[in-house]
Amino acid sequence: MKQIYFDYNATTPVDKRIVDAVIPYFLESFGNPSNSNSPHGREANRAFKKALRTVADYFSVESSDDIILTSGATESNNLLLHSIVDASEQPCRIITTKIEHDSILKTLEAFGDRVVVDFVENDANGLVDLADLERKIRDDTALITIMGANNEIGTIQPIAEIAEIAHRHNVPFHSDATQLIPHQRINLAETEIDYLSLSGHKIYAPKGVGLLICRNDRALSRIRPQIMGGGQQNGYRSGTINVPGAVEIAEAIKLLDAEMEQETAHKQALYDAFFAVLDQQKIPYHLNGDPVNRINGNISIAIDGLTSIRLLAMLPEYSISTGSACSTGKKSHVLAALDCPDSIVSGTIRIGFGRFSEQKEIETLANKIADIYRSVHS
Ligand code: PMP
Repeated sequence: MKQIYFDYNATTPVDKRIVDAVIPYFLESFGNPSNSNSPHGREANRAFKKALRTVADYFSVESSDDIILTSGATESNNLLLHSIVDASEQPCRIITTKIEHDSILKTLEAFGDRVVVDFVENDANGLVDLADLERKIRDDTALITIMGANNEIGTIQPIAEIAEIAHRHNVPFHSDATQLIPHQRINLAETEIDYLSLSGHKIYAPKGVGLLICRNDRALSRIRPQIMGGGQQNGYRSGTINVPGAVEIAEAIKLLDAEMEQETAHKQALYDAFFAVLDQQKIPYHLNGDPVNRINGNISIAIDGLTSIRLLAMLPEYSISTGSACSTGKKSHVLAALDCPDSIVSGTIRIGFGRFSEQKEIETLANKIADIYRSVHS
């Protein structure tokens, strides 16, 4: 049975162009970049610096030294939250949403009494209420952290506006932009966002590499190292530097930059094709998330009268998630925060697609879903 991949929000396939670009950094330029006494070390260091420069240029970061290479968005989120809490008078307050990724929510929970968490209200599509955000900011608010786009329902938050509100009140703003990066360019010089987290494996690079991007030296100065050791990365994150990982992210960013418009159009064509099939066959469904402000490689949908477990059991060749892959088996905290009725929560599947997905594949999937709907309701 041919397996068909529709789980791009969980992880993307690796782009072969990235693999090809990184191979020399395993086989030839494999030195330890901290060893400046050896030609191999200096060469690896040059590769690392060049990769960070590519990232800094793309996001318009003041200096490439303001970027910290991590093992992924989970670590980036942890590093930022621990830094802010360590550097604040305690208890401090942090504003966030109820629909953040667990790497934000569980980390905040683990602070216990050290942090008071204020949750901003969101509407039924997951969009944050900006007036409520402004009301919740207080003198002891140490950080606002709100994701760029939600990994389950795809809703995009107005992070540029949120950053402006945060700065009006002198509060730093962090956005977990892991899911937004493949969809939208972000310019840190033109917005007031202080920190971005991202993971390589959502942008066609391998797993286990990510970034915490600080907007400028001032933002960087709030970072408190959490991993101690040899003092690599200017002491902000010890451990031998993952040069191939940095190269992979830089290559991924270059491809995004070159292909963003055509890729967005490609995903939109697939998104439209899926709904054209369902609408033509009058299949009743509920789309989760904001219908307009959303990443278009995500369809979070419940089909009337079908549980996700039943539907997925009838689509064995497809990799599709119920809710989000990171929290399979648990009731989705995101759907709970949207006040979805139980039938939507138990019926929701997440179809994620992107660079290598094909229109005929998604049309076939939509037709199969329509057939299943009819067989169950006949
Ligand atoms: N934040 C968001 C929004 C995500 O979608 C993910 C991955 N599901 C993460 C953080 C964590 O990324 P990683 O597992 O690569 O650390």
